[in-house]
Amino acid sequence: MKNNLTDVIADFVFKSAPDLADRLKSQAEALDEAKCSNPVLGRWIDENDVNYLFSTFALSDEDFAKKFPSMAQTTLAERQQVTAALEEHFGFCKHCSLKRAYDLELDARIEQAYERNSDFLLQLLEEDDETKLPKERGPLEVKLEPAS
Ligand SMILES: [Zn+2]
Repeated sequence: MKNNLTDVIADFVFKSAPDLADRLKSQAEALDEAKCSNPVLGRWIDENDVNYLFSTFALSDEDFAKKFPSMAQTTLAERQQVTAALEEHFGFCKHCSLKRAYDLELDARIEQAYERNSDFLLQLLEEDDETKLPKERGPLEVKLEPAS
């Protein structure tokens, strides 16, 4: 259902902006033309939504470790250093400042699509909940595990 819902929202976003496919294509071309001056920082920016990246880095150590167990050893102070380096990088890297602007634009479009279609989306979620009611499930299966 999660994927289904994502598809529905993507559909709304594209329908609300018939020019979006072209816009995304020209954005990708602009990003291609403006090369990043720092591949290490640039990779973080290219592979993540910039807003998401920053809010993730701002999590407490505990929350961060829960969400990203493989990077659990990084501290908030270290992540703040990366955030500061990224902020500075945006100041002189055309590629990355463009990427950030494009991310913000897309985030705004998605948010708008959510707001305009919130009733319909809620209904979808409710229908999904109904299919999870016990009566819809098959008979209970009891698995007998061999004692070890
Ligand atoms: Zn860059």
